[in-house]
Amino acid sequence: MAMRNIREEGDSILLKRSRPVTDFNRRLHTLLDDMRETLLAADGVGLAAPQVGVLRRAVIVMDTNKEDLTPAEQIIELVNPEIVSSDGEQTGQEGCLSVPGVYGIVTRPEHVTVKAQDRYGKEFTVEGTGLTARCFCHEIDHLDGHLFTEIAERILTPEELDEMNGERE
Ligand SMILES: [Zn+2]
Repeated sequence: MAMRNIREEGDSILLKRSRPVTDFNRRLHTLLDDMRETLLAADGVGLAAPQVGVLRRAVIVMDTNKEDLTPAEQIIELVNPEIVSSDGEQTGQEGCLSVPGVYGIVTRPEHVTVKAQDRYGKEFTVEGTGLTARCFCHEIDHLDGHLFTEIAERILTPEELDEMNGERE
């Protein structure tokens, strides 16, 4: 496994549409392994392949609702993911490893169901609520070349960021 560089806003690869994964081979497994390592090191909750420079429809999302699991165990790998249903609404803070230091207020569904394939090509369905639902939507948006800053109602001010950081300490 190896860490990969996270591409940042301004890199045109983040605005491109990713292609479906068709080969569930070692190359894909290496990509997913590297994405896991990169996400854990960056202390994020989700990562999409284009963020590490690969235009393929693969994302990883941490199911942070499963508090009894370790961060590594919380990671769900989704290849060719598709939101098949969504309901409810949540409005809250959202950030992105590709847009460091910027947080915005974004409205997302409260609950989503996602259909995807695992690293071997086997289809499965997974549900997410709260932050996990937000994360599924955010990462899948990356596969279509969209960043949260496009749909944020507003971006948090430096004062609000200070307050947020204060709460975390
Ligand atoms: Zn992101």
